Amino acid sequence: MFEYKSVQETAAIQNSNAKLGLTEAEAAGRLKKNGGNRLREPPKRTIPEAFFEQLNDPLIYVLLAAAAVSLFLHEVSDAVIIILVVLMNALVGLIQEGKAQKALDSLKKLTSPRAYVIRNGKELEIPAAELVTGDVVCLEAGKQVPADLRLLTAFGLQVEESALTGESVPQEKDADFLPAGSRGNDRGFGPAHRPEIPLGDRRNMAFMSTLVTTGRGTGMVIATGMDTEIGKIAALMNESPKEITPLQRRLGDLGKMLSLLAIALCILLFIIAVVQKRDIFEMLITAISLAVAAVPEGLPAVVTICLALSVTRMVKVNTIVRKLPAVETLGAVSVVCSDKTGTLTQNKMTVTCCYMNEHIYGRNQLSLEMHHELLEGMALCNDGVLTPDTRIGDPTELALLDLAEDCGINREELNRKKPRRKELAFDSTRKMMSTYHKNGGEAVTYTKGAPDELLKKCSHILIWETAVPITALHRENIKHAMTDMSSKALRTLALAKREGGSGPVEERMTFIGMVGMKDPARPEAAEAVAKFKTAGVRTVMITGDHVDTAFAIANQLGIVSHGKECMTGEELKKLSGKELEERIEQVGVFARVSPEHKVKIVRSLKAKGNIVAMTGDGVNDAPSLKSADVGIAMGLNGTDVARQASAIILTDDNFATIEKAMEEGRGVYENIKKSVIFLLSSNLGEILTMFLTVLCGLASPLKPSHILWINLITDSLPALALGVDKNDGNSLMRQPPRKPKESLFAGGGLACTCFYGILIAAISLTAFFSIPYSVMKESGMAVTLEHTAELLAGNELLLIRAQTYAFTVLGMSQLFHAVGMRNVHKSIFRMKHGDNKLMVAACLVGFLLQFAVTEHPLLISAFGTVHLEMVEWLRLSVLASFPLLAHEIMALLYAGSVIHSSKLDS
Ligand code: ATP
Repeated sequence: MFEYKSVQETAAIQNSNAKLGLTEAEAAGRLKKNGGNRLREPPKRTIPEAFFEQLNDPLIYVLLAAAAVSLFLHEVSDAVIIILVVLMNALVGLIQEGKAQKALDSLKKLTSPRAYVIRNGKELEIPAAELVTGDVVCLEAGKQVPADLRLLTAFGLQVEESALTGESVPQEKDADFLPAGSRGNDRGFGPAHRPEIPLGDRRNMAFMSTLVTTGRGTGMVIATGMDTEIGKIAALMNESPKEITPLQRRLGDLGKMLSLLAIALCILLFIIAVVQKRDIFEMLITAISLAVAAVPEGLPAVVTICLALSVTRMVKVNTIVRKLPAVETLGAVSVVCSDKTGTLTQNKMTVTCCYMNEHIYGRNQLSLEMHHELLEGMALCNDGVLTPDTRIGDPTELALLDLAEDCGINREELNRKKPRRKELAFDSTRKMMSTYHKNGGEAVTYTKGAPDELLKKCSHILIWETAVPITALHRENIKHAMTDMSSKALRTLALAKREGGSGPVEERMTFIGMVGMKDPARPEAAEAVAKFKTAGVRTVMITGDHVDTAFAIANQLGIVSHGKECMTGEELKKLSGKELEERIEQVGVFARVSPEHKVKIVRSLKAKGNIVAMTGDGVNDAPSLKSADVGIAMGLNGTDVARQASAIILTDDNFATIEKAMEEGRGVYENIKKSVIFLLSSNLGEILTMFLTVLCGLASPLKPSHILWINLITDSLPALALGVDKNDGNSLMRQPPRKPKESLFAGGGLACTCFYGILIAAISLTAFFSIPYSVMKESGMAVTLEHTAELLAGNELLLIRAQTYAFTVLGMSQLFHAVGMRNVHKSIFRMKHGDNKLMVAACLVGFLLQFAVTEHPLLISAFGTVHLEMVEWLRLSVLASFPLLAHEIMALLYAGSVIHSSKLDS
């Protein structure tokens, strides 16, 4: 109904003041009374619901089926162990999910929008959740509308309302608009018959969660939280689907494949049993064991935990991951396209010189007497807010206000003398902004912007307070001064004016002057660029700034070394997609480009097979952030629009942070790879051990409970330890980026899995056979397969001892294997074991548990094992350490080959 109310009526209803806003005390009172400006969270799942969801997994079905069969066969202890393990797995999953949710909630807090309000006549920045009805909110391009507002003022204000109306074309807003039927526009019908105006047509309103694309304005809050239009749309509040990464998807598929394999093996086993005329029940038990061996129970949990922990670690290096798949993609990035201002530079602008009256003046030569036109114009055509305790706005504008203040300009007085009536907001395509000031009969428009663009629109130049027609020589001199400033890496900004008229016009203006601003390069950015180079990642600077300034900074940072590697927006515009693709690999700096060019650049780079990360901060950057493989938005100076379009947010806007995030991305992939190879080689070891013995017609060397124990107790912890391993960042960042479609088993991964699988099976079988072998030897029997089968089938005690041997060696060998997997190229004597305390703990706990399972009476009866003597332990330990021995030999061979190839290189 507020769309029918005038500004005054709205203020009266809300008991507020359209100019001064509320007082702090009043706002605090309303906040307490009406609650915060928050949308209600969707109802959370109950704990039992979440628990049962954990059980909804094909791998778990196989296990539950195994438990049912065991129960049916009266193997109660096996059934109990399987069920216990399934329940424990679900419990761990539940706890993990809870933790991940907590981490996400705290991330939400970090990214929650903030709002600019006027309270007591002063502009303040507050969390949007603290807004109350009656607050006066300032809107500007790039901001999210923080509550439902009745607009008070609107200057070229356009709002994209797709979140609410589905319409993605921005709507123009008009604070003075009053629809037919309102008091100011009583045509046709009275208040009682006012029709409901569709949301998209309420031009004097702005709604929560919509985005300001251009212009500025103010509005009074008329509804907050669940009372807003968006709050009323319950469907929008539904939880977005759970996001999984490509790697998780691939591993999920692998899991399903292994489950199918398990079923296929079971069927095969049955056929063998029938052919060999063996006891069907015994074979059922063996089949269950085999199915359990094939299913990597710990895998999904380990991967989820690795990714969740990585997201938490990223927060510590100032990176917020909005979309989980980005963690992985980051590791494969081959080109990073970065903004200049604020990301590669410090965004601490200071004006160091100016050009006026055909002279260059140093900052300390500037005075109000001589340069008042320039200083006043720069202060008037400016949206920055500078008071002793607030600095709000673009650093470029604040630098100009600092300069004006230093030279003695009183901005308040100036604004009173020449109040702003209209404006054309800044946009990066025009690269300029204009404000129109009128007081009585005097009217003037000030335009400030990129000097080369502004110069195109000037017909006159101000020389010693007199406007004269601009000549080619004047233009030449200005360009000369501009090149001079730009080559010193100064950012240039010019000012022009136009007198008279009824609004701002950016044509036939009078050039006043130009300032040069220093924005030092970030020292850590140069380091990051160098690190990227060794990591096979190219850095490309994309900026709206002048080509000389851009080149000077890019050169300082080591991005380019020659002017030929720069391309301007003008040149870019002329190139076709194909032509750009041909040249793109040689370009390191794109200067004077508009945001829409960025999409063209991303497309070309992608067409060349690159994986592109792209930074952005403005409204117009959203399309390029979306089209890049990893869109990175700025957290400090970025707009809400850019943030919503990106996968990652840098909370410190710093380029070097991308490097750290990439290192983390590569690290987490490497770790997951290590965990997966470890888990699968262990499972392969189990399958081979089982399958080979069954093929030979022998009793099963492992019970289902043994395999479950190993998979879930002794395997999971080391796998997790591998997943959180501290990687050697230096060596990670010395390799070229991973190919995006590269399989987890590339680069020797498959060979490694097979080798260790076979080795583990070989030693476990050796342990298993050593028992019947020694009996055959002692009793003088010939050592044959038939005799072995007879012995194992006929003597249960013997079988149990042999099984205990195989179980012990299998369990222990995997712990040794895990230690080596930390770095397949490095001897364990050269690894820093203190860096992975979890691995040390995992191994200690693993050995202890493996010991307990043959030494503690309760566990002995549950798992059907036997007590082992000290000598036996010693012998089995030596056998179990074979994977470590193999690891040492391979590390030695690798070191040798590295030395050899470096000798060849030199
Ligand atoms: P980057 O893309 O690296 O952040 P940038 O800040 O220079 O660089 P834009 O914000 O697109 O890119 O600005 C383009 C040009 O417009 C600038 O080089 C400058 O000359 C001019 N400009 C920037 N800010 C303003 C402003 N507030 N008012 C007027 N002109 C501006």
